[in-house]
Amino acid sequence: MSENLLSSLNEAQKVAAEYIDGSLLILAGAGSGKTKTITTRLAYLISIGIDPSSILTLTFTNKAASEMRERAFKMIDSTIINTPPLLCTFHKFGLLFLKFHMSELNRKNNFVIIDTDDKKRILKSIDKEITTSLLVSEISKYKNTLITPYEAKSSAQLKLYQQIANIYEKYEEYLLKNNLVDFDDLLLLPYKILKENESLAKEISQKYQYIMVDEYQDTNELQYRLLRLLCSSHNNLCVVGDDDQSIYGWRGATIKNILNFSEHFENTKVVKLEENYRSTDTILDHANQLIEHNRDRLGKKLVGTKDKGSSVRVYESHDENEETRKICDDIKILLESGVQGKDIAILFRVNALSRSLEEGFNRAGLHYKLVGGMKFYERAEIKDLIAYFRVLTNSNDNFSVKRIINKPKRGIGKTTIEKLDAKSIETQKSIVDLISSLSSEELSAVVGKKNARTLKVFEASIMDLREILNDSKMKFLDSFEETFDYRASYDNVPDGFDRQGNIDEFYGYVRDFFIQNPHLDLKDFLNEIALESESDEFSGEAVSMMSIHAAKGLEFKHLFIIGFEEGFFPITGDGSDIEEERRLGYVAITRAMDKLTLSFAHSRFYKGKRTILTKSRFLSESGVIKGSLTIEKHSSFKKGDLVQHKIFGIGRVQKSTKAGKDYKLTINFGGTHREILSSFVEKA
Ligand code: ATP
Ligand code: MG
Repeated sequence: MSENLLSSLNEAQKVAAEYIDGSLLILAGAGSGKTKTITTRLAYLISIGIDPSSILTLTFTNKAASEMRERAFKMIDSTIINTPPLLCTFHKFGLLFLKFHMSELNRKNNFVIIDTDDKKRILKSIDKEITTSLLVSEISKYKNTLITPYEAKSSAQLKLYQQIANIYEKYEEYLLKNNLVDFDDLLLLPYKILKENESLAKEISQKYQYIMVDEYQDTNELQYRLLRLLCSSHNNLCVVGDDDQSIYGWRGATIKNILNFSEHFENTKVVKLEENYRSTDTILDHANQLIEHNRDRLGKKLVGTKDKGSSVRVYESHDENEETRKICDDIKILLESGVQGKDIAILFRVNALSRSLEEGFNRAGLHYKLVGGMKFYERAEIKDLIAYFRVLTNSNDNFSVKRIINKPKRGIGKTTIEKLDAKSIETQKSIVDLISSLSSEELSAVVGKKNARTLKVFEASIMDLREILNDSKMKFLDSFEETFDYRASYDNVPDGFDRQGNIDEFYGYVRDFFIQNPHLDLKDFLNEIALESESDEFSGEAVSMMSIHAAKGLEFKHLFIIGFEEGFFPITGDGSDIEEERRLGYVAITRAMDKLTLSFAHSRFYKGKRTILTKSRFLSESGVIKGSLTIEKHSSFKKGDLVQHKIFGIGRVQKSTKAGKDYKLTINFGGTHREILSSFVEKA
């Protein structure tokens, strides 16, 4: 059986799958079967009798994990497996680990994971001066490079960084006090625990005798160190990666992890894969042309195995509406011809570009999935419910209490919340505990009689619901609604219908979770969904829309990539990294199997205003557009030329004057003279 299993691999892939003792680095370009190789390797390990529960496979996205699981299980007789192998994201692994070992840090395991939005709010409450996004990224950087608040404070030179370090310290205190963990903590805390506890590290390492990591080029220092600890009793680590696809530099990923792998782990065997099985030769050729503009690379060859395929299409549009229309029209035709939605995807570099697509798809009645967006969980009503549930599972979560204490409206104003907050800090008690421990009179002295009464009722309801939750999870949602009338509070309000629809969907989801996992509780549900945003399943009908980051490792028969304009892709300006942008371009293009369309627009509505754009250098660098069309076009318009405009139709050029990089043309459209930039017209 194991022989059969390996028969779908080429020679180099086979070598990698069969090499099971010692460290192994599979270094290869996009679509060369890296993921296929480790998936097969996983099945192979099980087929030769290795205990599945001793194998740990780490991926970057839930989607990648579930796809890999499905494929590996297809290859083996999964009925013979008692405990399935653990196959999950780094973050999920961290979460599972913390559930068991959080006590090592003297913390309870009823912690709650906060998302970026929560993080921003907490930071805002600590400091209103410094831009929140700067704080988010700097704090994340500290954590991922293992810099403590104390170290950050003592090494900060500039005043700004001293301030940031102080905020970092307060932020950490806040998380600790409320027993919250952020995404970075899911890696950082397990690392701290294992680092401090050698025997636990040995034990875990002995449990996971075989470790595999996909997309190793995107691991950061912290992940590398964590892996080292996980491998402390053996050297059976197999990683796969591609330096040209390293796209998480902004999150501290370091290509050094791949480059130094052989030094980090003794006696490493390196396997290179050089054939691409995914894309047509044409697509591959453009991807290769583009990435060759980068200097900082190992340099790999990739040869195609498919045929030439059709040429890459370029869509030029006036604006995002025209772009969306073209793509929707195309997709309609594809779907009508029998192509499945799941084989089609639209990618963008900048998330904001999904808005016009979403609108267009809704108008056209096309099904889509926005993958990786926090679309559903980001809605206010869902966040409220999550906050309620958090309060129910964790009294210390002041952050969530403040969100819901007046939702639905119960007359508790901002001042009351501030008073409660101050008292909570003063007494070192959470808001809920404070309300419960103070007598009605004492509480009245803080917030007034009427508010005190309301708060007492609120606190009693929380306590009752906790009991119901303990007794019968299935009764909980009904009791929750009866108590707080949350859903009902959207009766007769504008857009209430939509919101109630979301609430129903969410409730249904909670019920389902309890039915599927009778031994798990609400806290597990909350942590599960905190990691889930990116895992949206690809159903047959829906077309996927996602950022290039979210598309990592995936492949689609028909691919559209939009927003090929300077500033949008590549992102330019302060802090941008053109080589990383190019790697993103390489990742994006190499997602396509058969048909690829790249699109750019002359203007987009962005951040509240319409911006005029020039097309991306990546179009010419990849050889998709020969030379610079714009320049050709500009210089070639002269008086008397017939030109075509998308809206005004055909007209005749009367005059041409230089305007910046462009030319301003005066054109006679059927008697009406209009001044139009030359990039908006074509020769008729
Ligand atoms: P990426 O770098 O984008 O993650 P990858 O190297 O992980 O790509 P895979 O996704 O494993 O590549 O494989 C790309 C495609 O090629 C898949 O459809 C896979 O099934 C196919 N493939 C890989 N190896 C072979 C092979 N030996 N024979 C036939 N098809 C293969
Ligand atoms: Mg892969």
